Amino acid sequence: MIRQADDTLVAPVRQVDFPRRIGELSDQPVSTCYQCQRCSSWCPVAAEMDLMPHQLVRLIQLGLPERVYASRSIWLCVGCAGCGASCPNDIDLHRIADVLQQTADDESRRKASALRAFDRAFLATVRKRGRVSEIGMVVRFKLSTGRLLADMKLGLWMFLRGKLKLFGKKVRGRREVREMFRRAEREKEDRS
Ligand code: SF4
Ligand code: SF4
Repeated sequence: MIRQADDTLVAPVRQVDFPRRIGELSDQPVSTCYQCQRCSSWCPVAAEMDLMPHQLVRLIQLGLPERVYASRSIWLCVGCAGCGASCPNDIDLHRIADVLQQTADDESRRKASALRAFDRAFLATVRKRGRVSEIGMVVRFKLSTGRLLADMKLGLWMFLRGKLKLFGKKVRGRREVREMFRRAEREKEDRS
């Protein structure tokens, strides 16, 4: 069942053509998945996903695009290719996630855009200071999404309770942290 905006539950609509279409577009043998779950054990971001990689593949096999596109997992894949290397059937979720991102509707893209803005804001502060700076992250996130006045009450509440610190502590090893980011960028460029 799928929960709608008005909180009612509706049965998901099956599309029998969906698994074949995603399989062809991604060039991945989606139908061969037998749910061994190795991909999910490997995936470095599985803990953050609402649907783990093997569950995503299962929903594609079942022909349930609404469930698949409603999942934030398709936007969280970092393209490490670990699932493909561990899968006995050579199914690379990264290729599937790429196709799902390209075929997603506007609502799904809007959610993803906010998610990515948050991730970028988080990483930018870690890169700069060596650890997350809550206030820096919030400012970056709001500037990049234009949601300047949203959640003001919550922000004030957190600030008054010392949860949003104006000046975060500096950490040692900031140069090493920046080097880690540079190395990750180089590896990403090499893979693309
Ligand atoms: S590792 Fe491959 S076969 Fe196993 S659940 Fe994941 S996609 Fe399916
Ligand atoms: S390619 Fe994506 S789905 Fe596969 S292990 Fe890496 S992050 Fe997870």
